[in-house]
Amino acid sequence: MYVYGPVPSRRLGSSLGVSPIPAKTCTYTCVYCQLGRTTDLTSVRQSFYKKEDILDEILARGRDSQFDYVTFVGDGEPTLCKNLGWLIEKTRKNLRARTAVITNGSLLFLEDVRADLKHADVVMPTLDAGNERTFRTVNRPHRNITFDVMLHGLVDFRHDYLGQIWLEVMLIKGVNDTEEELRSIAKAVDMVAPDRVYVVTPIRPPAESWVNPPAPDNIIMAQELIGKAMPIVDPESGKFDLEEHGDARQAILEIGSRHPLRLDQIAEIESAYCVSGIVGQMLRDGELIRTDYRGETYLLPGHFLRGQSNHAKERRLAK
Ligand code: SF4
Repeated sequence: MYVYGPVPSRRLGSSLGVSPIPAKTCTYTCVYCQLGRTTDLTSVRQSFYKKEDILDEILARGRDSQFDYVTFVGDGEPTLCKNLGWLIEKTRKNLRARTAVITNGSLLFLEDVRADLKHADVVMPTLDAGNERTFRTVNRPHRNITFDVMLHGLVDFRHDYLGQIWLEVMLIKGVNDTEEELRSIAKAVDMVAPDRVYVVTPIRPPAESWVNPPAPDNIIMAQELIGKAMPIVDPESGKFDLEEHGDARQAILEIGSRHPLRLDQIAEIESAYCVSGIVGQMLRDGELIRTDYRGETYLLPGHFLRGQSNHAKERRLAK
């Protein structure tokens, strides 16, 4: 299944998600990633699946659903999909829908990636660092991607692209939230000249257990130093579309593999299917694991344990 949702999005309203790549396939393995550690770290673009199959599913789901954007996002980096430009063009033409791409921006140095994204209405790249050292600490990129290559790709894209660029900066306590780091991020952001900048903080369980959100004062400092920055620190609200899932178990596993679910969200899914006790059984069977982050309890699909360090596995299993 390539298409999911519509799901509530903090920036896009209601978003019909499209994942054209295999799970955890990315050019980065960010310390804050809510999917856990990347298992296929690559910088090579590929046709992972038949493009016609992906398009058929987008059109079928798109014609049956109400949403604000069709969002190409992936359980990893969507620009690794060689057919992304074709999929965006066909989606726009056939559904007359607005399209967005959530990308880490690492491959924008490639001309074919910039050409693929030029038909999207909104492109939402990440920029979490203003120098090589912090880039390596936070994003842990594939060895072919340096900070300068990534940043110049973003700058080149800005020159060519007529749509909206909404840049996202993820702040992590003690890593990129000091005045010095924020000033270097601000300098890089100015070079890209995005239409909007969102400052976000980790709200769901991260790949590395030491990742924490900055103190409120540092978020305010980021807002002051980074031009146009708007903070988003609250979780999204809104309901998940459950029509595509056969039963509560399938819904919990499929939505949860892309969007770690809080206890209250899982209870809503159980109640929508008029069932109870499913979650307890899934926990006992190891299909779900419980983890706490920032005072909230999340239930993650058991396969999230793959790619975790032994320490993280033990920490999660112990809960
Ligand atoms: S946060 Fe995004 S860019 Fe970073 S590893 Fe996860 S999927 Fe890749």
